[in-house]
This record gives sequence, C-alpha cells and structure tokens, in this order.
Amino acid sequence: MNNNDKLLANFWDVLNLTTDYLVTGNKSKHSQFKITSDSLDQIAEEISVCTKCRLCETRTNTVPGRGTQDPVLMIIGEGPGEEEDRTGLPFVGKAGQYLDKWMDAIGLTREKDLFIGNIVKCRPPGNRDPLPDEMSVCLPYLERQIRLLNPGLILSVGRIASQVLTNNSVGIGKLRGKIYDYRGIALIPTYHPSGVLRNPDEYRKPVWEDLKRVRTWLDNWQSK
Ligand code: URA
Repeated sequence: MNNNDKLLANFWDVLNLTTDYLVTGNKSKHSQFKITSDSLDQIAEEISVCTKCRLCETRTNTVPGRGTQDPVLMIIGEGPGEEEDRTGLPFVGKAGQYLDKWMDAIGLTREKDLFIGNIVKCRPPGNRDPLPDEMSVCLPYLERQIRLLNPGLILSVGRIASQVLTNNSVGIGKLRGKIYDYRGIALIPTYHPSGVLRNPDEYRKPVWEDLKRVRTWLDNWQSK
C-alpha cells in the first residue's frame, strides 16, 4: 500500500466508524465512540448489587466510600469492618474515629477535604484480610472512583491497601516514609489506625511523621 492508499483506507475507517456511531449511538461496538458517562452514584449502584465474589454472601451493606466529590486527599483502607458493614459508611468504627483525629491534626475534614474508600467494598467475615481474588475483582470499582475523583494526594492506610496500590510486597514498615506514584497521583502509605490503636508506643511517632508529610505535600501543591 502506498501513502495515498493508506490515507484513503484511514478515511474509510473513520467514515465507517462514524456511520456506526450514528446508527447505534452508545451501543457502538467501536469503543472509541462509546460515550462514557461514569459517575460515583453509578459506581455505588453497581457495588450495591455486586456478586463478583463470596463477600456478597455475608455482607449486610456494601460500603462504596464517602466524601467530597473534589477531594484534596483520598484515604484508602483495606475493607469495611463491623460498624461499616452495619451502616454502609467507611471508617465509622473506632479506627475511623481515630482517623478523624489524625485528619483534624492536619486541618482536614471529611466533608470539605476528603474522600474515604476501601480496596474491597464488602466486609470480610470476622475482619479477616481480603483475599487476592476478592481484591482483584473489586479493584476496578476503586480505579473508577480514583479516576473520577482525581484527588490531589492518596493516603493508603495499612499494609494491604499500601501493598496493592504501590504494587509492592514489602511490609508497611519498609513501604512507609516515601512518596509513590499511583497512575500519576502522589501516594503516601502509612500504618492502619487500628494497628496504631493496638500498639501506640511503636506506631504513633511514624504516623505523625507521615501525616506531616501529607500536610507539607498538600501545602506545596496548593500553593502552586
Ligand atoms: N478499616 C478499613 O480498612 N476500612 C474501613 O472502612 C474501616 C476499617
């Protein structure tokens, strides 16, 4: 094929795709013409009826996440606990109340500054760790949420969320202390608030360092 033939072939491709789009609208088989009208409500709706893994069998409520639609900071934990399963809201148990104190200490509030979510949207029974297959089928919901929310910064709390989002298998003690990149968004890992509640002498100091890192990062970002 010479250059003219190639140009002509491209022209016909475009014409065919356009015709296909005009005829079928949103149902076009050509993905480049699909109108994507994703929204947080749409994602929450899909999560509410999700049966992609065994966690749907034991959940009371799904916990899609909650917060402002324009967050400076997105906090991501591993999965709902008992209180979250009962209410459908993220981080509302003891760990969540402690997390609120962390945020208060760096001048952030749920209503104005944060979106809080989890790797899995249904409670693992008995608060066990989410299993790899549960996380991998649930992760696309979080990825869509992150894409829509486009937060300034992500704070992953705990080993599981931090490992998944940094794609790294080392322990949280080694992971923390650095700033990572999650698909173009800066990410800071820290300990889980429930771990700190269990062992404050060991974890309070490094968490405070991480929170100061969050505050400094946001100050620099907001002054740009
Ligand atoms: N722990 C988590 O990781 N997420 C919650 O929503 C609550 C507790």
